[in-house]
Amino acid sequence: MSTLVFIDLNKSKISESSAQAATIANQLDDKVYGLTTYNDDDYISSLGNKGFDKVFKIDDFKNFDAIKETIINHKINTIVSPNINLFKELASKISIKLNFSITSNVLEIVDNNSIISSIFTGKAESQINVDNENRIYLLNKNIIDSKEFDKKVDIIRIDSKISQNDNFEILDQTLIEEDISLNDADIVISAGRGLKGPENWKMIEELAKKLNAATACSKPVSDAGWRPHHEHVGQTGLKISPKIYFAIGISGAIQHLAGVNSSKTIIVINNDPDAPFFKAADYGIVGDAFEVIPKIINSLS
Ligand SMILES: Cc1cc2nc3c(=O)[nH]c(=O)nc-3n(C[C@H](O)[C@H](O)[C@H](O)COP(=O)(O)OP(=O)(O)OC[C@H]3O[C@@H](n4cnc5c(N)ncnc54)[C@H](O)[C@@H]3O)c2cc1C
Repeated sequence: MSTLVFIDLNKSKISESSAQAATIANQLDDKVYGLTTYNDDDYISSLGNKGFDKVFKIDDFKNFDAIKETIINHKINTIVSPNINLFKELASKISIKLNFSITSNVLEIVDNNSIISSIFTGKAESQINVDNENRIYLLNKNIIDSKEFDKKVDIIRIDSKISQNDNFEILDQTLIEEDISLNDADIVISAGRGLKGPENWKMIEELAKKLNAATACSKPVSDAGWRPHHEHVGQTGLKISPKIYFAIGISGAIQHLAGVNSSKTIIVINNDPDAPFFKAADYGIVGDAFEVIPKIINSLS
């Protein structure tokens, strides 16, 4: 039986979340396989240093029949994956068609049967005993540091056509172009309605640039069109767990916290000392964002 990791890319490199998943897969199994849509064999060959023994190349993650055959032919019984939308959808298909159990929001794999996962939007942890021998683990980010390995990679090309799906039709797809992927960023600078209008995001972008961070926002900000929808974090947006999350001019509504409260360190900047976000903060600055942010930027220059 073997272990497979779904490989997500960030700027043509394996994402840190997938590298962390590969490190965990190596704790579970000696031989670790990867699945990627990336085409560059030279780069894939280098993934031995992330802990892969074999990497399956596929044209598209929508190619479910090919993925299914790969899982069956290579006797894969454990799948370890970053907890991102693309792989959640794939995991649910594999679960239904091949009888895999899914455990999501995984914080720790104690052994291959006992899992600690985050529940109630990060407010509590539960211990789950998995008794299905086919299992998928969707990992929260930053639950471990990725390690370097000294392995050689076999590349296996999986050829087959994308399975037809008559149930729905994709009318349009937009490629999201981000300097730093919000899913994969170590630092996220997020701002809310306290910034008053889209014209004031220059200082947020400047701070993000200085800290090599991604930008995010609250729901009303993206609803108003001040920022693009893919930056919206929270219960109805992206769920992220960066090492540092800056919340600037965001009140800290429970629906917002649901997407960010598993961040390692939360820094809140708000001019209202009673803003609920301060209760979830590791560090807080009570002050006007329009005074505080330029000072932080200056101090970093
Ligand atoms: C079903 C449902 C799902 C939802 N999902 C989400 C979600 O996924 N994500 C999400 O974000 N919201 C979500 N919401 C909305 C959520 O309830 C809040 O309304 C929203 O998060 C508030 O956004 P905000 O903090 O930017 O704005 P506000 O609540 O208006 O807060 C603005 C904050 O800025 C501060 N401020 C004002 N001026 C300054 C200044 N000059 N300097 C510093 N601080 C300043 C204020 O003190 C205030 O705390 C959802 C709501 C519902 C009902």
